[in-house]
Amino acid sequence: MAARVDLLIGAGYLWESGRMASARGRPSNVLTLDGSGGVVLAADLGAAHATVAVCDLSGHALMESVHDLRIADGPEPVLRWLEDRWRGMLTAAGVSPERVLGVGVSVPGPVDVRTGRIVHHTSVMPGWHDYPFRDHLQQRFEAVCVVDNDANAMAFGEYHTHWPSSSPLLFVKVATGIGAGLVVDGHVVRGADNGEGDIGHVRITSAEDGPLCVCGARGCLAASASGRALARVLREGGVDVSDSRSVVQLALTGHAEATRLVREAGLMIGDVLATAVSLLNPRILALGGDLVLVQDHFLGAVRERLYQRTQPQAARGLQVVTSRLGDRAGVVGAARLALEEVLSPEAVDAALAARQELAGRPVP
Ligand SMILES: [Zn+2]
Repeated sequence: MAARVDLLIGAGYLWESGRMASARGRPSNVLTLDGSGGVVLAADLGAAHATVAVCDLSGHALMESVHDLRIADGPEPVLRWLEDRWRGMLTAAGVSPERVLGVGVSVPGPVDVRTGRIVHHTSVMPGWHDYPFRDHLQQRFEAVCVVDNDANAMAFGEYHTHWPSSSPLLFVKVATGIGAGLVVDGHVVRGADNGEGDIGHVRITSAEDGPLCVCGARGCLAASASGRALARVLREGGVDVSDSRSVVQLALTGHAEATRLVREAGLMIGDVLATAVSLLNPRILALGGDLVLVQDHFLGAVRERLYQRTQPQAARGLQVVTSRLGDRAGVVGAARLALEEVLSPEAVDAALAARQELAGRPVP
């Protein structure tokens, strides 16, 4: 045990942060994760924005910045841009690239996390279908790389930062699109084929003859209740709005039609979430994304519908909250997902073994 701890300290994973008196015998050493033992690179890519960060091993951001970025420009220019940002940040922070132990990226579309490839050709990410995103990152950085869907990353970031003992946590993102991520006992719940959480395409009967969804079907929740859908309805009524964010800004200034639409979206989303809550009985339902900013109308409507349509046993201990990390949830979650891999027992064993081999010593 002592030899193993010495090795972990020598390799920069742990440090002795103090001593604690014990009832019997010698005082014990307090060991703390050494955040400075390396860094992870993190990015949250949205449809039109990107948040990029360099974080230490405790997940604390050493540098972080937000940029305009069109993900629809496709893999080559986006990944070249991303690598330039990260390398610039490493230089500015005085961190050598050899100290990069992991890379985590969240994207606004479905990902096969086993292969690290983008799954669908979606309207948000044209040109990315089947792109070997993770392999690309691994070639550039020789580190543990993770690519995941944004709702999963946000759920993971929110759980580990603010609700580490409140499991299960269901995170729902309502912005341009609608998606969900579920964390149980500290881990993102994965479906058999990584199709989990795609609640934006659940059919709502009240809209079966409704507008066409980006997926090609009619009646999807996202076709009526997403920021994209609300912007479309307002534009058809002659209001000058471009996207989810401008709808929210309009509602926040008291625009009657925008406010009414946001409330209706909250009711429709609450309907679908009542089913999710009945099925999963989460402790925390965290709502994130643009629309959540219209707290009174949106959150009020979600809560109203949810409590009307859920049995007391599933709703009694439920806390419906807004994302505490806000716009940072994706990048914090992406860093945490990378750290989960970097600090996994297998990865630490492999790193220690390589270190001992270099020194010609056995691993304790
Ligand atoms: Zn759809």
